[in-house]
Amino acid sequence: MFYLGCHLSSSDGFYAMGETALSIGANTFQFFTRNPRGGSAKAFDSKDAERLEQFLDKHSFGPILAHAPYTMNPCALDSGLREFAETMMKDDLFRMNHFENSMYNFHPGSHVKQGVSVAIDFIASMLNRVLSPSQNTLVLLETMSGKGTEVGSRFEELQSIIEKVECSEKLGVCLDTCHVYDAGYDIVNHLDDVLDEFDKIIGLSKLKAIHLNDSKNPFESHKDRHETIANGSIGLEGILRIINHPKLKSLPFFLETPNELPGYASEIKMLRERYEG
Ligand code: FE
Ligand code: FE
Ligand code: ZN
Repeated sequence: MFYLGCHLSSSDGFYAMGETALSIGANTFQFFTRNPRGGSAKAFDSKDAERLEQFLDKHSFGPILAHAPYTMNPCALDSGLREFAETMMKDDLFRMNHFENSMYNFHPGSHVKQGVSVAIDFIASMLNRVLSPSQNTLVLLETMSGKGTEVGSRFEELQSIIEKVECSEKLGVCLDTCHVYDAGYDIVNHLDDVLDEFDKIIGLSKLKAIHLNDSKNPFESHKDRHETIANGSIGLEGILRIINHPKLKSLPFFLETPNELPGYASEIKMLRERYEG
């Protein structure tokens, strides 16, 4: 099954996202759990969540992906900000636990002046307080572009977090194609080598989702600016090799390209036509 969707606005609730996804040819989607630049979330509507759950089942959707707010920094210098991150993640996971087949993606954070190894310890210790063996939702570390002091632009950093987490069966990785290319992994000319490296360092069994984006900037630019499919430095051929790669093709793919709904609909249509089932 080719699970393909895009980022959707959650402002009209859960069920509305399912209907929107279906209307643009998607069979999964991503959404923010709360205002991406803020902290507070709307009251949880369990009836709405239940309606979506039935809808996803009926239409054979793939796992849905929630994205944590950008303001979450589990390795912030300020302990108040770290506590804020932990409180948000606990609350988000409590909400997401209503969905049987769900994942929750977050940016590992920015270490701001503290160095990577201190940051990795903060991130892992938060995960050790937050993850539980009984939760439904798989938590994903996103691969980052290495902008500023971002943690997670090297596979080794992600692995250092994973190996410090006890409940690591609830922890995986979401690979963002724009981010890894910006970070210096050449998925355009050496996709097999990059996947081998991922496998050697983290293990491909940990790879649970792909953020499918082109990049506005050249290879290794550490910029993180997404481009629409086929119009960036990765290019159409590069993107098609990713969705059709035998080691990737059964993963769920999520577009985070700069688009409104009609743009997403046409990218989804084009990618479905070029997917070699
Ligand atoms: Fe992200
Ligand atoms: Fe992403
Ligand atoms: Zn990005």
